[in-house]
Amino acid sequence: MKISVKFVRKVSYAVLAFIGLFFCSFSSASLAFRVSADEMEVLKQSLFVNASANTNVNANDMADVNAATYKATNASLSNSGNVADCGNCKVKRAFKPRLRSCRGIGNINTSRKVVALTFDDGPHKKYTDEILMILKLYEIRGTFFLVGQNVAEYPCIVKALYANGHVVGNHSYSHNYLNTQTADEIAVALTKTNNLIKKTIGVYPALFRPPYGSCSSDSVRIVKKLKLKTIMWSVDYPLERLTAPEDIANEVIGQVKPGAIILLHDGGGNRESVIAALPIIIKALKSEGYEFLTVPELLSVGAYLNENNDKKEKGEEQ
Ligand SMILES: [Zn+2]
Repeated sequence: MKISVKFVRKVSYAVLAFIGLFFCSFSSASLAFRVSADEMEVLKQSLFVNASANTNVNANDMADVNAATYKATNASLSNSGNVADCGNCKVKRAFKPRLRSCRGIGNINTSRKVVALTFDDGPHKKYTDEILMILKLYEIRGTFFLVGQNVAEYPCIVKALYANGHVVGNHSYSHNYLNTQTADEIAVALTKTNNLIKKTIGVYPALFRPPYGSCSSDSVRIVKKLKLKTIMWSVDYPLERLTAPEDIANEVIGQVKPGAIILLHDGGGNRESVIAALPIIIKALKSEGYEFLTVPELLSVGAYLNENNDKKEKGEEQ
């Protein structure tokens, strides 16, 4: 089998990055398309050689994350002006969310045939595993907006995503509607998730996708304060109406234009048909000449927050 230099470099990096950790044990995924047993073995080895066997973030790590979140949230809110007198922020201000449609970036204007695949609501022990293998097969990198509580449960999958060149973004901690939450609840949800991802892969995500695409004036202010960039989408699929993989694929393919950001899911419910639709979507768009980019590549922005900015921020808090 031909092994490219790029492939060897990627695997080496992954091994170095996670040396000292145990290997993750993944159940064998049954893909909704044909992959030979040999191909499957090669894919699994290349994808998960780097992943750790820690099935959960341990109690000490979680305590660190909570402490950092609490501190950052206090700083964020007390600097915001709206809750200046909240002391240690146990006092919540009156709950009056103002609804506001999210103004994130859903696509770019371009004539180049480029698109970005995004996956929300993971990591999921089965679906993310399967998507990783599909993307590996087609040599595509995607952007995954992760739910913090799932990151805590499946850190090894997050490590596998990152080590394989996919981009990891923030999708809140518990996937609640932001326009039903108070300012400090939103700040905790976003900061805790970013801290958890930093603890897991060593970097803070710079991209954020609001659950359900819901925003409020508070959420917009906090997202800005945390220096996160809101990423929406221009292509999706109505899962309540479409259940057959072919129908989902046709819906997505029909909506795609150059510069599109495509919303798909690897968690949050039964995603079997979405997973089965993915190879159909990829093959069709490739045959039309489309190139697949990560969201940061599409937008020419950084995937992760600048460490220098982060240190400066920490200094300012004290
Ligand atoms: Zn979601």
